Parts: sequence; structure tokens; C-alpha cells
Amino acid sequence: MNRRWIWSLLTLAVAAAGAVTLYQNNQARLRFVSGTTFAMNTFIDQKWFGSKGQKTYDRVTAFVTEIEQEISMHISNSDIALLNQKAGKEYVALSPEVFGLLSRAKELSGASQGAFDLTIGPLVESWDITGLNPKVPSQEEIQKDLELINWEDLLLDETNSSAMLLREGMAVDLGAIAKGWACDQIRQLALEEGITSGYVSLGGNLMVIGQKPDGNPFYFGVRDPRGDATEYIGTVSLEGKTMATSGDYERYFEEDGVRYHHLLDPRTGYPADGGLISVSVISEDGALADFLSTTFFVLGREETLKHLEDDRYQLIVVDSDLNVYWSSGLNGNFQPNQQAEGYTFHQ
Ligand code: ADP
Ligand code: MG
Repeated sequence: MNRRWIWSLLTLAVAAAGAVTLYQNNQARLRFVSGTTFAMNTFIDQKWFGSKGQKTYDRVTAFVTEIEQEISMHISNSDIALLNQKAGKEYVALSPEVFGLLSRAKELSGASQGAFDLTIGPLVESWDITGLNPKVPSQEEIQKDLELINWEDLLLDETNSSAMLLREGMAVDLGAIAKGWACDQIRQLALEEGITSGYVSLGGNLMVIGQKPDGNPFYFGVRDPRGDATEYIGTVSLEGKTMATSGDYERYFEEDGVRYHHLLDPRTGYPADGGLISVSVISEDGALADFLSTTFFVLGREETLKHLEDDRYQLIVVDSDLNVYWSSGLNGNFQPNQQAEGYTFHQ
């Protein structure tokens, strides 16, 4: 064989090896791990692309189980159950992550114009809307609960990573913020593993990393608050963002034609009745999004619409007359579903 031939063969071999590597890289990029588990009282869907998908999936699954053990009010030795049991008596030691979550929830309670309070536990318990025996409590019961709600009476001791509720009968409930906060922790964990594409959904709280490997964004449906679980008022693309939704359709009971839902107004003691049926908040900050979805729902239509244009978050708001409003920052990302029956889209 002459030299030219040898060079040609060598070039071909190098090109072939390159093609195989490219193909393998592509396959690795397209490989994903997905599945659904149950923890924190909700379904958890995950999808992670890349070679670290399985490890990330397993770490996330372990993380949410661990968090549930620490913050569930129904697990008698969880940090939060102990904090509630020892209300009015003594400080309780908390894991650093639970301490961080409590501090954030307390700070945000103070910024909510009275609409959000992490010490809403006694009222949630009396209504039991998410439990087995939902009922309209008596006026006396509601009055007694309201007196026990005050975020300022949660004392935090940072040096010892401990906390105490000032008065007996008080109780912390993190249901309106824990899932969004967990989304932030999961993002950190996934980024640590080198994930560049994927998402997690914790009972409707979404956290998205990057785009699909084909370069298209991940799209998600925004639930039709008056339709069944398969119906949407629109789709939204989320990249590097979280989304939290609070609606009156998720957990409620009806009595004498009145819908009593699980988003309670700590100022009145009754389910919030501010003219909204669904609020979605999109933000990089998952805890903020979750907090705001509940807070805006409770604050009501008029106050919420004043906040459509904020640079820390975007909103998709549905009022009780089925008007849908959204932040202009979502144009191009939010596609309203014009087929959704009864809705009027405003933008
Ligand atoms: P979901 O958990 O259904 O996605 P939210 O994030 O709005 O919806 O949280 C609702 C839960 O938060 C309730 O089930 C209750 O435990 C708690 N909660 C209800 N009202 C308030 C409130 N005003 N402030 C703080 N927590 C609340
Ligand atoms: Mg919330």
C-alpha cells in the first residue's frame, strides 16, 4: 500500500471513530430517567436527562422522604410535630434545613399583609378540609383559633438551631410553602449532579432545569380550575423557573351550596373569598412562588392584579367570573387555550 492509501484509511478510521463518539454522546444526552413516587402527602413526578439521571432521581426520592420525616405534622416525632407539641413549654432542636425553612416562612408571613401565617395550624385543624372529617367550625372555635395565630410568637434561636411557639395550643403548618421550598433544594441537588435538563413536580409545584435535549422548552399545562384534571386553560414554558398554583378546586367540601376550600384567611378564619379561583406564580425562587400563590389567593382579585408586573415573578390569575389575566413577561411563554369553555383571556 502506498502512503496516500494509508493516510486515506487513517482519516476514514478517525472520522468513523468520531461519528461513533458523537452518536454515543447523543444517546447519552437523550437518555432519561423518569417516574412517580409518593411523599409529602402528594405525588412526585421527576424526569432527568443525561447519565446522572438515575442518581439524581434516587437522591431526590430520598430527599423528599427525609424532609417529610422532619416536617410532617402527622409523624409524631418530626421536628414540626415536636415544635407543636411543646408549644408554650420549651424550645425544640431543629435540623439546619428545617430551621432555614421556618425562618423563611416566618419572614414571609410578616410581609404578607396578614394573608399568610405559618402558625395557621389550629385553624387548619378545626376545618380539617384536607382530612377525614371536614366541617364548618363553630364561631367560638374559630375565635379561639384566631387568637392562637401569630407568626411573631414563633421564637427562633439561630445559635442553637431551635425554635419555640410562645403559647400552648399554637401550631405551625408549612403546607403552603414546603413544596416550593423543596423545589429549590431539589434544584441545588440536581445541579450538583450536573443535570442540565429535566424537571420535578411536587403535587403541582414545578421546578425546571434547562430545556429538552432537542432544544425545545419544557411545556406544562395550567389546570382549568373548573374542569377535570385533564383540562387546561393554557400551556406555559418554564426554563430555569418554578411554578406554584393555589386554587379553590384542589381540596374542598360543599355544604348548603357553599364551597369551603383549603385556603384560609387568617384575618377572618374562613376560606378566602376574594374573587379568585386560581393563582399561578412563576419565579426562580420556589419558596417565594409557593408563598405568593397562597398569599395572592387570600389577598384577592383587586390586590393581586396590582402585582401583575413585578420583576421577581410572573402571574397567571383566574377570577371567579372566569377572566384570565397574566403578566406581560409571560407573553411568548404562556399560550392560552382558546378552546377552554367559558373563559375570557385578557392580555
Ligand atoms: P397546595 O398545598 O394545595 O398546593 P397551597 O400552597 O396554597 O396549596 O397551600 C395550602 C395549604 O397551606 C393548606 O392546606 C393549609 O395547610 C395551609 N394554609 C392555608 N391557608 C393558609 C394561609 N393563609 N397561610 C399559611 N398557610 C395556609
Ligand atoms: Mg402555596
